[in-house]
Amino acid sequence: MGKIRFIKTESPKAKPDQKNLGFGRYFTDHMFLMNYDEGQGWHDPRIVPYGPFELEPSAMVLHYAQEVFEGMKAYRRADGGIQLFRPLENIRRMNVSCERLCIPQIDEEIFMEALLELVKLDQDWVPTEPDTSLYIRPFVFATEPQVGVHASRSYIFCIITCPVGAYYPEGLNPVKIYVESRDVRAVRGGMGYAKTGGNYAATLRAGEAAIAEGFSQVLWLDGIHRKYIEEVGSMNVLFKIDGEVVTPPLGGSILPGITRSSCLHILKHWGIPVSERPITVDELFEAAEQGRLEEAFGSGTAAVISPIGKIVYGDKSEILSGGKIGPLAAKLYDYLTAIQWGRVEDPFGWTVRVV
Ligand SMILES: *Cc1c(COP(=O)(O)O)cnc(C)c1O
Repeated sequence: MGKIRFIKTESPKAKPDQKNLGFGRYFTDHMFLMNYDEGQGWHDPRIVPYGPFELEPSAMVLHYAQEVFEGMKAYRRADGGIQLFRPLENIRRMNVSCERLCIPQIDEEIFMEALLELVKLDQDWVPTEPDTSLYIRPFVFATEPQVGVHASRSYIFCIITCPVGAYYPEGLNPVKIYVESRDVRAVRGGMGYAKTGGNYAATLRAGEAAIAEGFSQVLWLDGIHRKYIEEVGSMNVLFKIDGEVVTPPLGGSILPGITRSSCLHILKHWGIPVSERPITVDELFEAAEQGRLEEAFGSGTAAVISPIGKIVYGDKSEILSGGKIGPLAAKLYDYLTAIQWGRVEDPFGWTVRVV
């Protein structure tokens, strides 16, 4: 501990209006940086004023997309304190992503210290309005100036933070989604389980088409059989069928969401049956037609729980939970957010205090 060097800003920025934060538009005064160079390893951890990078046009990330990232939040408690939610899970997942993309892993302890020190330094940026938080974006990218294809020999690890409002400003309104049948997001053996920009680049075309047609996300199918459900947009997806909560298993093509795992844990804690098993789109629509599909919702750090009110597959269309948020999704949202913002006792040891 205590290895981080600090260079504080001499010109702190004005804070944005907390009632109009949007998502990811304003950045705080500082960022964390650490460099990797072959032979030297990760070195020079430092917190410096937020600002642009200087990068060679030949930097490998710009050509071969060797980069990974994470997404987590710091929450303002009612008592004025600040806490993180399961940060070690994000740290470990980023190292799993690094391994997939041949990026040297980052020491868990220095990563955790960086998160705590950065949020502590910019603590006045953690908003206090209901449903707001400080979004934290750690990322690593390849910087070696070389257009030959191989793993880079130098990297930058950076953490930036930004105060954010609710992901969907309209609140917990159910979203409309359709089942994507042209594009696929990832296949087994690919990088689907890693949080890397390339996976997102693959999803943009379908996402833009969905928005143009009045939907907010797409539901991804597996890339081989084109029938098993994978994820929705950039969230994991859970269904309540016949009283049981069903979610696709983590088979390598799906991102192992921390919100997903927290939901499953809470559901089990409540005695609600859960099952991680493959589910086909045909099974889903059959259950919906027979009135057995009681609820559907996405899970992710940004939106926490995102209820699905309407789902379209080719010429089939189903309204779920009467187009409203289902009772279980609402209960999960309330409980999970109460733990995250420190409004209830955390019985699972998931929260880590910053201040
Ligand atoms: C980050 C992410 C999720 C959600 O993960 P959380 O840890 O719950 O935020 C789901 N799917 C994809 C593709 C993601 O990138």
